[in-house]
Order: sequence, then structure tokens, then C-alpha cells
Amino acid sequence: MQCPKCSSSMEKVTYGGVGVDRCADCGGMWFDVGEREKLKAQKGSERIDTGDPDRGEKLNKLGRINCPVCHTQMIRMVDLKQPHIWYESCTVCHGAFFDASEFKDYKEKTMMDFFHSLMAPERE
Ligand SMILES: [Zn+2]
Ligand SMILES: [Zn+2]
Repeated sequence: MQCPKCSSSMEKVTYGGVGVDRCADCGGMWFDVGEREKLKAQKGSERIDTGDPDRGEKLNKLGRINCPVCHTQMIRMVDLKQPHIWYESCTVCHGAFFDASEFKDYKEKTMMDFFHSLMAPERE
């Protein structure tokens, strides 16, 4: 698979039985449908997001990319809980591309929300 942002080749990385594609150059990560949620549920999975955050931030501005799987033009999405995370999603195969360090960000915030929900239960 070719990276949709920098055209380098992507390599398979597996963590906790979930295999995703990570770009060997820019560190962007490709998730097939459902993989992102599965990987997020794995303890320590943010460790596979090894890309350079500065590079990720630059490439994040590149919004018009084609899906590396089915070559459809992807649409830009934001994470509803974390609107500063912009990622690209394919409307045909439902894969998603995260720039370097975005997955880490996405996951860390979720852990914080989790602890927050333990500390501050909803009041009636
Ligand atoms: Zn790349
Ligand atoms: Zn696609």
C-alpha cells in the first residue's frame, strides 16, 4: 500500500492482534473499517504511533487525498469529542487515515475521559 499523503510505502504493524498500515516515511497510519476502535481498546497501543508530530501536523493540512485502498477521493472528518483531530475518511470502504501522532492524541484523550467519568459521576 502507498501512503496517500507522501507516496512512500506503508508497512504492516501489528499490535495486540490488530494489524494496521503505517507509513515508513511520514508515520501516518491507515485503519481499515473497525480497526481504529479495536486498536484503541488495546492497552498501550498508542506506542505504535511512532511518527514525528511536527511532520504529522504539516501533512495534516493536506486534505485532498485519495483512498489508498479503493482510490476514491476521501473526505475530511473531525473527531466529535476532539474537534482538533482532523482525519480523512473514505466514504466507499470506510477506512481512515490519521497523520503521525493523531492516534496517540485520540487515544490519550479517551483515557482522560475515562478517568474523568470515574471521578465525576453524573448528578441527578
Ligand atoms: Zn507517508
Ligand atoms: Zn476507500
